[in-house]
Amino acid sequence: MAKLFESVRFLKGVGEARAKSFASIGVRTLYDLISYFPRTYEDRTRIVPIAELQADEPACFRAFVTSNPRTAHIRKGLDLTKLTVADDTARLNLTFFNQNYVADSLRYGEEYYFYGTLNGDYLGYEVANPVFEPVDRPGVQTRRIMPIYPLTAGLSNGMLARSVALALEACIGELPELLPAQLREKYGLCDAATAYREIHTPSSFEALDAARRRLVFEEFFIFSVGLSMLRSRRTQAKCQPLTGLELAPFEAVLPFSLTNAQRRVIGEIAADLSGGRVMNRMVQGDVGSGKTVVAAAAAWFAAKNGLQAALMAPTEILAEQHARSLEPLLAKLGVRTTLLTGSMTAAQKRNARQAIASHEADLIIGTHALISEATDFHRLGLVIADEQHRFGVAQRAALAEKGENPHILVMSATPIPRTLAMILYGDLDVSVIDELPPGRQQVQSFLVGENMRARINAFIRKQAAEGHQVYIVCPAIEEGETESLKSAEVWAETLQMAVFPDLRVALVHGRMKSAQKDEIMRAFADGGYDILVATTVIEVGVDVPNATLMVVENADRFGLSQLHQLRGRVGRGAAQAYCVLFTANRNPETLARLKALCKTTDGFEIARADLNLRGPGDFFGTRQHGLPAFKVGSLVNDMTTLQDAQAEAAAFLSSEELPARPEYAPLMERIRALFAEDSTPN
Ligand code: ADP
Ligand code: MG
Repeated sequence: MAKLFESVRFLKGVGEARAKSFASIGVRTLYDLISYFPRTYEDRTRIVPIAELQADEPACFRAFVTSNPRTAHIRKGLDLTKLTVADDTARLNLTFFNQNYVADSLRYGEEYYFYGTLNGDYLGYEVANPVFEPVDRPGVQTRRIMPIYPLTAGLSNGMLARSVALALEACIGELPELLPAQLREKYGLCDAATAYREIHTPSSFEALDAARRRLVFEEFFIFSVGLSMLRSRRTQAKCQPLTGLELAPFEAVLPFSLTNAQRRVIGEIAADLSGGRVMNRMVQGDVGSGKTVVAAAAAWFAAKNGLQAALMAPTEILAEQHARSLEPLLAKLGVRTTLLTGSMTAAQKRNARQAIASHEADLIIGTHALISEATDFHRLGLVIADEQHRFGVAQRAALAEKGENPHILVMSATPIPRTLAMILYGDLDVSVIDELPPGRQQVQSFLVGENMRARINAFIRKQAAEGHQVYIVCPAIEEGETESLKSAEVWAETLQMAVFPDLRVALVHGRMKSAQKDEIMRAFADGGYDILVATTVIEVGVDVPNATLMVVENADRFGLSQLHQLRGRVGRGAAQAYCVLFTANRNPETLARLKALCKTTDGFEIARADLNLRGPGDFFGTRQHGLPAFKVGSLVNDMTTLQDAQAEAAAFLSSEELPARPEYAPLMERIRALFAEDSTPN
């Protein structure tokens, strides 16, 4: 293993300065270097006749130099070298900027391979700054699949490619094989040496694919095994099992019957609660899938067992809504509900706190303040966090400290694929409500441009005239300087003054004090306004059944899942509801994804599309969620491999003898290094 862990600075052409640049991208040893994979590849294998070169498409061509290169000094700092080349099919002008050495390296009458991009207009076409190699030399920059590396200051792509080639030569024989033969055979994966060689210097696209697949599997396998080991280190606390968790009495008091999905998820919760271990479960369900009633069932289970439950909502207004809908329902089962929010009067709060401390309240509903404030619970056995798709591991841990190891139920309206959930919420079990209550109306959605402004305004007026209410969501709060984004402040004023002087327009945005925000939302919910201009603060859970129209300005600025959430704010009542997406964007891809949103109302499908488009990093706002950064694997494109790796990892860990086998020793060593006791996977 001597070579593998040697410093890169001893490689030919590296030295101290470049070694520093390498260090800045985490490359210190030869092993690091060969594990620094290309970010993409350029196909330079196909030789295109000059006459068939396409504008703006980089390509390789083979040609004779048909004029002596001439360099002209244009101005300070700009020299242009021009020459012509030709093959059997056509002639072509080449231009080089500030590359005066070209005049000496390209010789009249000689033949070369070039790689570059044709560009130009009706005045003529040319290729600027192509790379080139004499035809009698082996192809390094032409005639091959060229790896393109993520670069940093002081390191060019050519430099990286050369260093990697040298490193491979020096140490590939020492490369440890982390995947035993039987595993490679089972999934048709190539060996480590082949994979490393082909990922850097692919002999064909098939070989490159095979190399990638092997490395992705390895990466996911290591991650899955490591994560499971971390999880099992954290012992799940034991607790008194809850008893008498039958559903029938609960269903009997509901004004509707539960969907099968709700029933199944409540069953999963009951199994947790009666299992003698502390529950850690996330319930995923689309907007309107009926998560609240699932939470209510859990609260009832707790109350039946003499435990208090806390339901936390992200906003006061949502907390009030929950209290209003759950209080009468649960009262029929003898469950006493108490609301505790910041905007209650001091006397009300005192009463509520007293009821909580003396256990005259079984279910306590409030915001996060409920938990952080000095509220004394009597026997807090269950904590439910609603609409917490932006909930971090740290916050979950903080929750658990509030009682003596209470059961935890987290409810999220952002559906994500199960495999991804396992990575993101590795410490949670996941239940999915994948069914909407019957008879739910479809919100009709339209994508429109500015030319429809007058018609949409007329439509807004019509909704208001029928006694309905309208949301208008803007991407910004204040007027920006650079971008032509609608700002909520300015737009609200324009609408009130110039467009709908006779209607009642309100404004709500995230920079307002929460008391002020709540007051406006409350007034809107009570029908005090016709139009609510807002930023995405209204994205979360507010229920105003009388609102029938959602207008989103600059819709292209929002993620699909976010738009879906916004759309979920309407269509909660009996009247037909509409969603109008305004965009001035002409990008065909953008338009396609917005149109796709208009066509479907399936949140899972939308989340998948969103993930594909933006990648998990943007989708979740990476770091905040501790989403691991994989080197080769993509959480979007390599889902099947991830599933295989997760299954194999589970089998591996549940086996008594496999982890002890010698062929798994290199793997175990690698996992131990990556998942050391006090480090988290990056
Ligand atoms: P979300 O999952 O978005 O939190 P809610 O719990 O707010 O959804 O439920 C949305 C609406 O659907 C509520 O008005 C609720 O009463 C109703 N609802 C929930 N479950 C059912 C059901 N099984 N049948 C009919 N209506 C239901
Ligand atoms: Mg909800």
